[in-house]
Amino acid sequence: MITVEKDKFYALPKLPYNYKDLEPYVSEEQLRIHHEKHHQGYVNGANAILEKLENARKDGVDLDIKSTLKALSFNIGGHILHSLFWPNLAPSGKGGGEPHGVLGNAIEKEFGNFERFRKEFSQAAVSVEGSGWAALSFCRQTNRPIIMQIEKHNTNIYPTFRILMVLDLWEHAYYLDYKNARAKFVDAFWNIVNWDAVNNRLEELRK
Ligand code: MN
Repeated sequence: MITVEKDKFYALPKLPYNYKDLEPYVSEEQLRIHHEKHHQGYVNGANAILEKLENARKDGVDLDIKSTLKALSFNIGGHILHSLFWPNLAPSGKGGGEPHGVLGNAIEKEFGNFERFRKEFSQAAVSVEGSGWAALSFCRQTNRPIIMQIEKHNTNIYPTFRILMVLDLWEHAYYLDYKNARAKFVDAFWNIVNWDAVNNRLEELRK
């Protein structure tokens, strides 16, 4: 139970579409459980650890800081990545296609063409070991987009790189719809990716 001010804690963001809007690529049941149960679980987990830290400081109690911070990183990472994921998806019929604007230019410059980028990103997504994410990120030192594979929610993230787009490859993201056929889920993703949202993130970054 959270007992102190609410705005010091994380909250589950509302989806920018309805639960059935990603069908047939992601079912209503799959999306609902992913958002309401899994994402909520990371929000609750992060808040519980923050509260535990706060209480320990207040009471002068020592915690196992190493394991506490590891769990905190896992849960905050899960919350932040899911918060990036939902808006980089678009309702069926409104997403997909190819990126345009500064994002389209950056992808073409780095990867040669969109097809090459899509292939590399799909390969990154399909080959994530166990539970993790594929992400398109951007390095502000070199102005280059970089694909990352993130293990779990918090391992292999490049410090300071801004994440533009993520794809959740935890089984909880696709198992109800696709069972073990992760590659089919990755193929489906390209039909509902929201390039406008991803492009806006890059434009914000370059302001
Ligand atoms: Mn997830």
